[in-house]
Amino acid sequence: MARRGILRSKEDNLIKDLRRTTLSFKKLGERYGVSRQAVHDFSKRQGIKRPVKPRGHQTEGCRLCQKLIQISKKPHSEFISIHTIIEKTGVEPRRKYLYHLRTLRDKGLVDEQFGRLLSKRAEKAYAIYFKKRLPIGMIGRKVGLKNFPSVVRRHRQLGWNVPTSLYVYDGKKRSRIQSEIQRRKQR
Ligand SMILES: [Zn+2]
Repeated sequence: MARRGILRSKEDNLIKDLRRTTLSFKKLGERYGVSRQAVHDFSKRQGIKRPVKPRGHQTEGCRLCQKLIQISKKPHSEFISIHTIIEKTGVEPRRKYLYHLRTLRDKGLVDEQFGRLLSKRAEKAYAIYFKKRLPIGMIGRKVGLKNFPSVVRRHRQLGWNVPTSLYVYDGKKRSRIQSEIQRRKQR
């Protein structure tokens, strides 16, 4: 009788696992010390409807995905380079990130552009661009990225959300700058 009681409680647990988890019959068999077939037959006899295993990567339970989502919520997060993202999340091989980023993009949980910026210099340049009223070319020279104006142009063409420069290129200022340059050349 006592033995039967033990089996009964084991059965109850198995029923719970069958109803609540998506573990395979094989895995459950290993857990309860019976064959895969025995678990299958038992499940059928009990008329248990098993939950459907969700497809693809489960981002809710993934710490890396959650961390990536958190970073992506910062303003202008698409202009954070992949190097900085990796630094913020911890040391991992880069190819691992691609999988999680792709999943998050596919699910619409992060921006399509998030994690695509490769250049740390471009990240630095953009950080200045968003904050300071400086000509784009000057920002590029500051961070050692001479082609920053064309980087900005290309990103715009690709549909990145690059806000307008805080620096106003009006004709007056430009001519003042140019005459300044002329004056320096003449010296
Ligand atoms: Zn993930």
